[in-house]
Amino acid sequence: MRLHSLESRVVTLFIGLLLILQLSGFIAIDSAIDRNARTAAEEDLRINEKIFVRLLDQNAQKLIQGSIVLAKDYAFREAIGTHDTETIVSTLSNHGKRIGADLTMLVGLDRQISASTSTVLTNSLQESVANLIRMAERSGSAATTAIVDGKPYQMVVVPVEAPVTISWVVMAIPIGKNIVNDMRDLSMMQISLLTSGTDQKWTSNVSTLSDDQALKLAQLMPAEAKNKLKSIPNLEIDDDLYNARILPIAKSDQITTIAILQLSVSQAVAPYKKLQRNLLILTVIGTIIASIISAITARRITGPVRQLAETARRLGAGDYSAPITINQKDEIGDLARAFSTMREGISQREKEISRLAYWDTLTNLPNRALFTDMLEQAITTAKLRHTGCFILMMDLDRFKHVNDVMGHRFGDVLLKQVAARLTAELGAGATKPARLGGDEFAILLPSATREDAQDLATRILLALEKPISIEDQTVDLGAGIGIAGFPEHAADAVSLLSRAEVAMYAAKQSNNGAVTYSPAIDKTSQQSLSLLSELRAALEQQAFRLYVQPKVALDTGKVVAVEALVRWVHPERGFIFPDQFIPFAEQTGFIRQLTHWVMNEAARTCREWDANDMHMKISVNISTRDLLDQELPTKFAQILEEHQVAPASFCLEITESAIMDDPVRAHQTLDKLHAMGMDLSIDDFGTGYSSLAYLKRLPVDELKIDKSFVLKMEKDIDDTKIVKSTIDLGHNMGLRVVAEGVENAEVMALLKDLGCDQAQGYFISKPMPAANMAQWLSDWKTHHSEIITG
Ligand code: C2E
Ligand code: CA
Ligand code: CA
Repeated sequence: MRLHSLESRVVTLFIGLLLILQLSGFIAIDSAIDRNARTAAEEDLRINEKIFVRLLDQNAQKLIQGSIVLAKDYAFREAIGTHDTETIVSTLSNHGKRIGADLTMLVGLDRQISASTSTVLTNSLQESVANLIRMAERSGSAATTAIVDGKPYQMVVVPVEAPVTISWVVMAIPIGKNIVNDMRDLSMMQISLLTSGTDQKWTSNVSTLSDDQALKLAQLMPAEAKNKLKSIPNLEIDDDLYNARILPIAKSDQITTIAILQLSVSQAVAPYKKLQRNLLILTVIGTIIASIISAITARRITGPVRQLAETARRLGAGDYSAPITINQKDEIGDLARAFSTMREGISQREKEISRLAYWDTLTNLPNRALFTDMLEQAITTAKLRHTGCFILMMDLDRFKHVNDVMGHRFGDVLLKQVAARLTAELGAGATKPARLGGDEFAILLPSATREDAQDLATRILLALEKPISIEDQTVDLGAGIGIAGFPEHAADAVSLLSRAEVAMYAAKQSNNGAVTYSPAIDKTSQQSLSLLSELRAALEQQAFRLYVQPKVALDTGKVVAVEALVRWVHPERGFIFPDQFIPFAEQTGFIRQLTHWVMNEAARTCREWDANDMHMKISVNISTRDLLDQELPTKFAQILEEHQVAPASFCLEITESAIMDDPVRAHQTLDKLHAMGMDLSIDDFGTGYSSLAYLKRLPVDELKIDKSFVLKMEKDIDDTKIVKSTIDLGHNMGLRVVAEGVENAEVMALLKDLGCDQAQGYFISKPMPAANMAQWLSDWKTHHSEIITG
């Protein structure tokens, strides 16, 4: 049981409370017992004191009776009459002995002792006798106590009448051993007689105590016991506690005798003490029983709680199997039932989650996670059986376009149909397709050969060749399929998947339906990967440079525009021309970032030139990927806004093929860009296959005749014809016509003759860093007429 657990706290509380209750009860009873015992002892003492006084009284009466018998003795009275002293003394002695009197005397009417059994006749005795007779003269007889010869006596007097009083008889018995013994017989009390003389110290005469204890009692007795002190409640002798009472017995001028009645408190309390011990035993037993009960009760509460905590921990660890067995009807039972409901709920949801986690909800095919699991299993089985397995990975062609153009709902339906076709093609066998995500599918062929896999790939490609029709629209789908197998290409599921993916990309790049993995294609793909990261790094490290190439108006010879062309200064490979990385950047989508950089750089340059009075349009090249970006117009607007330059200062060069890749979307983007106020130019015109009718609908301002027609046009009559008709065509459509690739004066002159508007080429200038433009321009202004005319 842990120290801070609920159980230990409940038990501690219970036992603590119980102990406090029992203890306070015990203390209360204990003090009550003590009080009672003392009161009882007090009462006992009072009664015993009365008994003692009565005993003394009885003794006195006995003495008086004896004395009366003596006083009435005829012979005695005669002897008194005849003054026969001898007879008087012997009679006194005989009677005295009979009743145990120590001292018997005859006293005359003059109150003088006339005869005595004792020779001791002190003054004080004489006085006591006189006093006693004085009392008897009034009441007939009298009794008292007195000190005789230093000892306490009971003394009585009766008259001798014949018939008038002729004498007095006095008898005395010592107060000592006999009365003490009598008293001892009557009660459990200790009784002692103490006497104090002139030295004020007490000495013990006779005592029921042992001599030793009697001596201690005498030493402990204070001087006040002579008169004032009546009781001593706590008298301690030999570790025994007594309650004591003091009674005066007899007193003379110097000597006092007292009786001490003492009752042992411990003895009085003894019966109660036994009761108390029983009570203590009861308390202990009660505490033990209560502890056990409270421990059981606490366990009844905390046991289920602990069980629930254990269940919660197991739920946390994903074990939903263990049922909760608590069947109580109380709040804990309630909690347990709530727990049970929660357990079922969680287990239900977990099933749902795992369905979502392993199944593609759109096509109801296994997803990538499940496919990976299945592949792992297939590899394990193949290892055991020493066979192999293959996977196909497929990516649809143009799906992104379809999705972008026709909408996601259409795309979803398309994916479902593709899934259905795949399922149909695979038939009812063990091989089932999976959807890895997007437009990527995979097929697992357990225990299959390379030929099986390639066969299946061909069949699938064939199946996908039939156009798919959705909502009255038909879509031509193609796909690239990568094939990879265990153990030929990889030893585990993850690497096998990535090998298949590499093969799939190779298939798509080469437009070759299905490609089986080989290390060679992996190498190219790795190179591509490193090229992409190099491009990204170049952007960060500002390794791109903006070059510009002037465009000259053929009628005036003035520089009216420049074309922005990007260069890459590679840290190892040096100066890299765009042909070497633009196609790759277009493939990977990196071109969007690059275009953004070029546009930004162009805008910055434009602003600088404007400030220096160099007003020229800047042409920027745009790729297919850029045109498909719906955000392009907004991004450009932001750049122009940032650099405070007019849209009219820019012309965007777009190749025909870029437009024809996705005419609908390209058209939308071009409309927006044109509406912003930018010029649009058809680059490399003459190399594509776009219909003039379509071009006519585009918001274009310029046609740029491809340099392949221009370069050698002065020697090639066909090229001249093409260039001439293109110029005419452009003009007929109301467009400006530009020729690029002008390398010599003849071509320049020819173009001028043919009515071409502008020329661009090495003959005028090779592309140069934007910063060199100002210098070049001033050179051009002074020399251009000579250059043109040669
Ligand atoms: P392009 O748009 O047709 O650009 C004209 C190309 O012809 C430039 O090559 C230019 O240097 C070259 N050229 C100009 N005059 C002559 C000449 O008299 N004779 C010959 N033989 N060539 C001439 P560059 O700069 O190597 O660019 C090649 C291509 O790379 C460009 O063809 C363009 O398609 C692309 N490119 C260059 N910069 C960018 C850019 O910033 N963005 C995009 N998207 N593409 C760019
Ligand atoms: Ca261009
Ligand atoms: Ca061109």
